[in-house]
Parts: sequence; structure tokens; C-alpha cells
Amino acid sequence: MAILVQKFGGTSVGSVERIKLVAKRIALSRSQGNDLVIVVSAMGNTTNDLTNLARSISKKPPQREMDMLLSTGEQVSIALLSIALNDLGISAKSMTGSQVGIVTESSHGKARILEIKTERITHLLNDDQVVVVAGFQGTSLGNSGTAEITTLGRGGSDTSAVALAAAINADACEIYTDVPGVLTTDPRIVPDAQLMREISCDEMLELASLGAAVLHPRAVEIARNYGVKLIVRSSWDNAPGTTLTSQINATKSLNGLELNKPVNGAELVDMQAVLGLSHIPDKPGIAADLFETLSEGGVNVDLIIQSTHEGNSNDITFTVSKEHLNKAKLLCNDLIKNLGGELSSQAEMTKLSIRGAGIMGRPGIAASLFETLSKAGINLRLIATSEVKVSCVIDSVMGAKALRAVSETFELKEKQIKINPTIIGKGEPEVRGVALDLEQTQVSVINVPDIPGIAASICKAFAEAGISLDTIIQSERKHKNVGRTISFTLNKNDRKDADQVLEKILKEWHGAYLKDGKAIARISAVGAGMPETLGTAGKMFRAIANAGINIEMIATSEIRTSCIVPEKDGKRALQVVHELFKLNQQIR
Ligand code: ADP
Ligand code: ASP
Ligand code: MG
Repeated sequence: MAILVQKFGGTSVGSVERIKLVAKRIALSRSQGNDLVIVVSAMGNTTNDLTNLARSISKKPPQREMDMLLSTGEQVSIALLSIALNDLGISAKSMTGSQVGIVTESSHGKARILEIKTERITHLLNDDQVVVVAGFQGTSLGNSGTAEITTLGRGGSDTSAVALAAAINADACEIYTDVPGVLTTDPRIVPDAQLMREISCDEMLELASLGAAVLHPRAVEIARNYGVKLIVRSSWDNAPGTTLTSQINATKSLNGLELNKPVNGAELVDMQAVLGLSHIPDKPGIAADLFETLSEGGVNVDLIIQSTHEGNSNDITFTVSKEHLNKAKLLCNDLIKNLGGELSSQAEMTKLSIRGAGIMGRPGIAASLFETLSKAGINLRLIATSEVKVSCVIDSVMGAKALRAVSETFELKEKQIKINPTIIGKGEPEVRGVALDLEQTQVSVINVPDIPGIAASICKAFAEAGISLDTIIQSERKHKNVGRTISFTLNKNDRKDADQVLEKILKEWHGAYLKDGKAIARISAVGAGMPETLGTAGKMFRAIANAGINIEMIATSEIRTSCIVPEKDGKRALQVVHELFKLNQQIR
């Protein structure tokens, strides 16, 4: 006997036959004495079909009207499922988001949930009803105080389900879908992907935001922040699926639900060194040679950044702990003797990071981190971004000042601040899963001034327009000795809006200009054991090079390594990396 929230995705309710099967499954769970809140998506391809319908009328339909249209998809499935349940003799009532009281922000198309009213649901549960709730939708109060229908963003029914589970304090939230659970990668691309029995919320957050569509990243955030037990299972059988684990003791109040403070810690790691190789040849295998050589020499590399390049050369920057600096320098010098290129290095560096859940999905967070540091006059030598952590490498003398400023900005308490924390991930796999993202596009801003605050201004302007940046890379190299290049990737759908944002800020930087990158794919490997394993990145770069694929950009963070490759090579790169880490071999 438990209170369960069960969510059924689009494929699981894709036809009348499937709706009847789902109803039978719910009836069985009900007969075992569970109190059930069911969340459903729109049937099959309905959301895409509705979107296409609108686009056949207008290239840019108003977002408010899109929400009005798309929310109807879920309204059809709740009614049909409820009809099917009642037909089986199960008392069930369907409810739209607004009937429940799922209150969201007003931003149409990507609204975050602020509050879920529980009275009506609790009342119905007490009345022995199964409650069938429309996923993906809510209502905002709108500017004039009148209710407006909103949607949460594609894939958002997962988020509705987990948020409901948090609000009613359910014993578990079960996500029923068309795969057996979370797999080592997308089985549509790698058919021998294996099921994971367990995955941490941090790992899942990374994978979900890097392209693993099986869970909406925001659903994972909520599960992590509010301690919801989250399980992903198949709609078609009774296998146990995947359980998400979290070390966070959920103490957050439900007030402001998804708007709760996303940053819950900061840390400083000193005794770091930065090495920069510039003007090295741009061909497959160079990054592999470099990082293999370093790992064979026993040098553990932390962050790696490879930026875009003009002509036929590349720049690679990476960090090591200071004790490994001399060894790393020796090895790099040997390498560039044969390859050509230049080596620079800086000791006395410190890594400052903020942690949390869903950091890059909220563009204002990275922007306010960079702004805080720039206001304190601190130059960012290197930036590494991810959903659970954003790090900046700065001069050590600035470390204490930076930490103070950041703690103030993000209102962190003393116990949330760590200095030289021990490496996490002992005994965890170096790579638990891999993901492919074909939705990103790459843009570079060339010849921007080399002064503190540039990354901050770019991120802030994007944040104000609600655009999330990813993989932000500042180049080593100066453009004709004047300015630097900052490259980043962003979602393809935001590309047009990004132009408008950049046009404004580029006017302020004389001589700076914008350049679109090639069509790209991003391949990422994620694993909690990555920080304490030597040579993960080198192995990954080698496997990609052996497949004859050139790596255009590299960006790592604590538990992930991402490579940007030409779009046409994305699937192949995913397959070789999956095989490399033997993810096709065992149940994990
Ligand atoms: P639903 O309609 O149930 O929400 P989705 O299509 O949103 O289902 O998500 C399930 C799909 O996610 C699977 O069919 C699979 O192709 C894809 N997928 C991508 N990455 C993964 C992964 N790592 N594990 C499982 N499925 C994945
Ligand atoms: N129906 C919505 C979509 O297709 C929400 C969901 O399925 O999670 O994106
Ligand atoms: Mg989904």
C-alpha cells in the first residue's frame, strides 16, 4: 500500500489498444491497494502533429496560442484513459493542469512550476478515485492576473509527474515508457545499449541535458532536490527498470518549487596549473596523442578545453594539479617537437566552482557567476560548464576574494562551502552512459577585447533573452594579437534569437564579429568515477580518432567529457565511444 505517481509517455498511450493496456496495468496496481495519481502525455505523435498544423499557418505562431493548442493533446489522453479505467470498473477522474492547480511562471512554452495545489487531488484520493492528470501543462496567473494556459517544454510530462510526487509526498514516482529503463545510450542508435539498474541523479542530469531523451532534465532536478524516489520502467512488462539515487537529504521547502535556489554549494580547489598548447595541427589523433601520453606518464588531467581554430591549427588548454606540472610540461614539449605548436603554462591557479542541479538550464546562473567575478576584478582563465557544476580557473591570489563574492551572490552558508574537497566517485564507473545531441549549433564571437567581464556580458545578454549557452570556450589565441575568440554552442531553436542578442553587444566591441560554425554533433560520456580515473579522455579521443573522425571542440566538466564532431559523424562517434567503454557488455 503506497501513494504512487505513475506517468505514461506518448508511445505508451499511442493508440486505443495501448490506452486499454495501460488501464489494465493501472487497475492491477490499484487492486494491490495503491493510491494512484496517473500523469499522461499526448497520444503518440500528437504534439508534433499539432505543432506542424500551426506552422502550416504561420512561421512564428504566438507562444500563447501554441500553448493553447499543444495542451489539448494531453487533454484527449486523460479523458480516454479515464474512460478506459471506468470501463474496467475503476473509479477515475481526469483533471487538466489548471483544474489541479499546477501554477507556473508565465513564460509560455517553457514555464517552470511554482506550486502545485494538492487539495483536489487529496480529496479525490480519499474518495478512492484514481486521479488522471494532464502532463506538460499548467496555468500562470498572467500579467493581468487572469489565468493563462502554459506548457513546460517538450518532454515536460516527466516534470509534471515528479513535481506532483513531491507535492503530495508520494512514496515513488514511476515513469513508464517504451524502453526498459535508462540505458547506457539511446537504443535507437546503439541497439545493444544495456539497462542500468541504478544511476545517480547527478549523472542522469548530465545525460538528460546532453541528449538522453528518456527523462526530462527538470524532472531529475526536482527528484534530486526534493528527494523523490524516481523509477524508470517499461510500460510493456514488469521488470524493475532503473532507480535514480541521490545523496541529497531533501530539506527544501516546496515553496517556489522549480524556482528554488539551484546553487547549493561552492568549492575552491587550489594548487592547480593550466597548460595551453596553441597552433598545433588540426587532424584526427592529436588530442588522443596528447592525453594518452599524459596518462601514460601518470598525469591526471582535470579540465580540458579545445577551441575552434582558424586555418588548420588547434588550441588545447587543460589543467593538472601543480605537482604534475613539470611532468606535464616535459611530455608536452616532447610532443610539440614533432608536431609543431607552442606551449604556455601557468602555475598558482585555483579552480572555483558552484554546484547544484540544472545550472546551465537556467542561463542566469552562469551569467551571475561570471558577473560576480568580473565585478571583483577577477579574470577567468578557463570556464567549464555543466548541469551540476560550473567552474572557473582563476589566479590563486584571487581565490579567497572570489569565494567570498560568490558565496554572497548565491547566499551560501558556511557549511555549503568546501575548500579542497576530496575527489568523489570512488568505486563508480568512469563512464556510466553516453549521449548524442544533434540539437546544438556552434557560434564564435571573434576578436573580442581581452578584459575581465566579456564572458559575463555575453552570458548576461543571452540570459536576459532566456537563451541557455553551453560549452563556452575562450580561446588561448589572440586574434592578430588584439582580441580573443569566445565560442559556444546553443540549441538550434535559439539561433535566430541569439543573432539579435549578439548584434547589440557586438556593436560595443570594435572589430569583433560573429561566425557560425559547421553543422555539429555533441558526444558526451558521463560517469561519477571519471574524476578519479586516469586517462578516460585520452581513450575517448583515441577511439574517435581511430574511426577517422576529427574533433572540432572538447569541453569537460567534473563527471563528463564532451566532444563536438561534424554532424555527419555523430552517430558513428557515439557507437565507438559506447563500445570503447564496454557499455554493451554487462548489466550495470
Ligand atoms: P515517452 O514518450 O515515454 O516520454 P520518450 O520518447 O520521451 O518517451 O523517451 C524514451 C526514448 O528515449 C526511448 O525510446 C529512447 O529512444 C530514447 N533514449 C535516448 N537516450 C536514452 C537512454 N540513455 N536510455 C533510454 N532511452 C533513451
Ligand atoms: N506531449 C509533450 C511532448 O511531446 C510532453 C511529453 O510527452 O512529455 O513533448
Ligand atoms: Mg518523454
